[in-house]
Amino acid sequence: MSDEAPAPTVVEEGITEIAPGVWVIPDRRVPLVPNVGIVVGEEAVLVVDTAMGPANGARVLAAAKEKAQGKRLLVTVTHFHPEHGFGAQVFRDEATIVYNRAQLDELHDKGAGYVELFKTFGPAVAEALEGVELVDPHETYEDETELDLGGRTVQLRTWGVAHTRSDQVVFLPAERILFTGDLVEERIFAIYPHFPPNDADVDGDRWIEVLRRLEALDPAIVVPGHGAVADVGVITTAREYHELLRAETLRLAAEGRDADEAVAELEPRILARYPDWEQPEWIGFGIRSFHARRGA
Ligand SMILES: [Zn+2]
Repeated sequence: MSDEAPAPTVVEEGITEIAPGVWVIPDRRVPLVPNVGIVVGEEAVLVVDTAMGPANGARVLAAAKEKAQGKRLLVTVTHFHPEHGFGAQVFRDEATIVYNRAQLDELHDKGAGYVELFKTFGPAVAEALEGVELVDPHETYEDETELDLGGRTVQLRTWGVAHTRSDQVVFLPAERILFTGDLVEERIFAIYPHFPPNDADVDGDRWIEVLRRLEALDPAIVVPGHGAVADVGVITTAREYHELLRAETLRLAAEGRDADEAVAELEPRILARYPDWEQPEWIGFGIRSFHARRGA
């Protein structure tokens, strides 16, 4: 990322009501800004992702308080990555923070390392992370749980390793609204955090299977981790991209190409096929992940 990259700042004035009582602060397609969800029930309000660093977290908290009007606040995070969860500290005394157990374990294992990694992404990112503290949730759950917000039920679900070890989706079954975190992006190449030897947990095979499960939920509205709010087609499009990347990488590997050769050969073809997708740097990480995992 160059030093000219836009600051990873949440702009809460852009908040949009995507369904009655369901709000999204859009990412404006700025890298390292997530789509943030605020789900309003009769008794409680759930925040989905805090954005990165205490200043962004404070902006999200202010927006949530405005929607809550004194109702109880809950916060969850789709996965442990900094731009999704590293604003949680400002919620510690204001809200009940809920994570799945595997996500908390992953935060403990990798969180501090990711702060250091992200600080190398340029001054704007380092500034956003100034003063960051990694905080534990007040509550954890295993596998899945339901939150009753009063007149509105929200499911927190995980299928284990995919983009991270413990990606969690947030699903409103009555409204069929799905918050995917980084399991799905809209018109942005899938983010493969394949950073061996520090982190090579991303698993494209399992990710594809998780995307099939998300498609089977048949959501009417999909809020991706990054990019525009969409319908279930955005999940299918994402799955087909992963499947193409896998098939082509395995074919080239079977023909004897090493990872560098596979990237050199495949990347231009992928770019040509998805000319309006952003963050092309992730194509190579995806190819390298499938290449490293072949036969695993
Ligand atoms: Zn992520």
